Amino acid sequence: MTEFNQPMGGNIMPRFAGPATMMRLPATSTPENHDVCFIGVPFDIGTSHRSGARTGPRQIRAESSLLRPYNMATGAAPFENLQVADLGDVPINTFNLSASIDIIQNFYAAVVDANCIPLTMGGDHTIVLPILRALHKRHGPVGLVHIDAHSDVNDHMFGEPITHGTPFRRAMEEGLLDGQRVAQIGLRGTGYAADDFDWCTNQGFRVVQAHDCWHKSLTPLMEEVRQQLGEGPVYISFDIDGLDPAFAPGTGTPEVGGLTTAQGLEIIRGCKGLDIIGGDLVEVSPPYDPSGNTALLGANLLYEMLCVCY
Ligand code: MN
Ligand code: MN
Repeated sequence: MTEFNQPMGGNIMPRFAGPATMMRLPATSTPENHDVCFIGVPFDIGTSHRSGARTGPRQIRAESSLLRPYNMATGAAPFENLQVADLGDVPINTFNLSASIDIIQNFYAAVVDANCIPLTMGGDHTIVLPILRALHKRHGPVGLVHIDAHSDVNDHMFGEPITHGTPFRRAMEEGLLDGQRVAQIGLRGTGYAADDFDWCTNQGFRVVQAHDCWHKSLTPLMEEVRQQLGEGPVYISFDIDGLDPAFAPGTGTPEVGGLTTAQGLEIIRGCKGLDIIGGDLVEVSPPYDPSGNTALLGANLLYEMLCVCY
């Protein structure tokens, strides 16, 4: 019988002490023989407004020290079922965006080859593109649950094709996503044109704007999303700015009128039963998060992703 890694308990070492790995799990230098690995991508050179997400992984790990192993709401016991560890950070080249994209893709290729599910601490949203490229090699076009204030399907930003506002446009062009199996939830804010979201619906995406989520549970929506996404592989990409800045102020491009923390939990818990092949939590920017609440929320959302991975 496999001896599964466990988060270090608060009665063994005080929660404010010791090395900061995700959930105080063991660090590993290889994805081999792991079911799931947490991975940091300290990358924010794709941001269009306020930067700072490069220290997201470090702060999410720090705030994750309060997390305990059992999910008291759903009954999930991921550490009884999965071998999980913290694979550390991807050594990006912060002076070179395109080189960093390749570094990230190569790093994740090894994770995919080891049949290990990556759960990523961002970093800005640019990083989802090389992750999806690596996953495509094994899984082909994947379904996507994308929580975000922004659709991230711009053709270019300042003339550049690879930024945090363009990853899902590139992913569609490269055949990394199955457009009929994409749901975008929480979109809102001011746009460049009234038909900004039409490109998404023309690809077959289901677009659920934030105002259509106000004042209600998203559990019924997620039943429909599970129907839409069906049996095939699904990636979860959670931009923390999908939640309202009242809950998650520590991010680079905040938009008012967003989702609540409870709705964010309902979305991820509503992914249970889908074939989750990876997930990320991006755009936590610690310089704008003096209380640590945004990183704490990010850590919890990543834990919830772990809870729907088996
Ligand atoms: Mn985004
Ligand atoms: Mn966003």
